[in-house]
Amino acid sequence: MDKIKMITPLVEMDGDEMTRILWQMIKDELLTPFIDLKTEYYDLGLAHRNETNDQVTIDSAEATKKYGVAVKCATITPNAARMTEYNLKEMWKSPNGTIRAILDGTVFRAPIKVKGIDPCVKNWEKPITIARHAYGDIYKNVEIKVPGAGKAELVYTAEDGTVTKETIHEFQTSGIIQGVHNTDDSISSFAKACFNYALDTKQDLWFGAKDTISKKYDHNFKDIFQEIYDAEYKERFEAAGIEYFYSLIDDIVARVMKAKGGFIWACKNYDGDVMSDMVSSAFGSLAMMTSVLVSPTGVYEYEAAHGTVQRHYYKHLKGEETSTNSVATIFAWTGALRKRGELDGITELAEFADKLEKATLDTIESGRMTKDLALITSLENVTALNSADFIREIRKTLEAM
Ligand code: NAP
Ligand code: MG
Repeated sequence: MDKIKMITPLVEMDGDEMTRILWQMIKDELLTPFIDLKTEYYDLGLAHRNETNDQVTIDSAEATKKYGVAVKCATITPNAARMTEYNLKEMWKSPNGTIRAILDGTVFRAPIKVKGIDPCVKNWEKPITIARHAYGDIYKNVEIKVPGAGKAELVYTAEDGTVTKETIHEFQTSGIIQGVHNTDDSISSFAKACFNYALDTKQDLWFGAKDTISKKYDHNFKDIFQEIYDAEYKERFEAAGIEYFYSLIDDIVARVMKAKGGFIWACKNYDGDVMSDMVSSAFGSLAMMTSVLVSPTGVYEYEAAHGTVQRHYYKHLKGEETSTNSVATIFAWTGALRKRGELDGITELAEFADKLEKATLDTIESGRMTKDLALITSLENVTALNSADFIREIRKTLEAM
């Protein structure tokens, strides 16, 4: 069989610990035997980030802007313990944060649905994708603990010196105040990323905020979404047969619980933080969650939603057997390969991505899976496989297809 040829390279961002081990296995067993894999390789493993003073992370994000599609392995975000473990020069920032800032992107998280791993919400037949606005609100707040009686005010001083003032509260006793902000640019980027992703995946887009109570702040989100939708997306949505709608966040929550799934739920920063954990745990497993960063200009970076699975890596280093689930990392590759295939007009590459996903799910549905899934599946007579054997079983299914 001839290997599938690629035109433009994928930006490949290698990572850390157990996911770095899986990364190589996936390439060796499931990709390079079938594809003439063309990638521009960036080693985002912590040791190399440290050697390059984190320049490699910036370079990989710049390359993603240039080529349009990247696939990323999970990476360590250093903390105090990692400083000693890796003898770091500095506590380097989260690579995901750095890449997100350079691409100005929005993260879409979607569960991978498979028979036998049933969501707690039984009417959720299709995945629910959460789009979280990743800038501002309480994540960039300033707060004051008010010690006692006094007046709290909200003050804006324009560049020309003009002052706008609102009284927040006339305190009689002690209390608390908080200042939050967002920018129209960031909200617009978020809205565009959501509309583009909805068109791309042919799914409806839902957006909820609390504009009845937050008459200026949340209302601004609602207005920006609506203005951009009317001006740039309405016709394309209608042509694609999909819908955008806004409602109050509490109404959206109620609708989500009763829905069948198969839509994108755009969330303000805090709502996205909370709701993505609720939705992902209700769908079954963090190891079955994909994540894609989409920039407002249509640049894509695919990855698994989980981390480097450190605990399994330490077992692996001791020579013990691991049973780490590679599904989300495989789907990061297939997402990137499919997108590359679509952009370059290589049908076989997009079809290969579909086949590899199907082979992965078929393998699980036939009862062959990693331990995390074996523990929660409703299927009977399942075999819990180790990390490498699970990938080899997928290879067998793929070859049979
Ligand atoms: P984690 O790697 O997501 O793992 C937490 C636990 O979840 C694991 O110990 C394991 O549970 C289970 N798990 C996660 N993924 C799994 C998989 N594929 N297969 C089987 N089980 C899986 O989170 P963490 O241990 O808190 O973080 C480790 C490192 O990852 C940290 O340095 C953090 O900075 C980094 N991180 C990176 C990203 C990213 O790059 N996007 C995201 C999050 C965290 P059991 O141990 O019970 O089996
Ligand atoms: Mg959270």
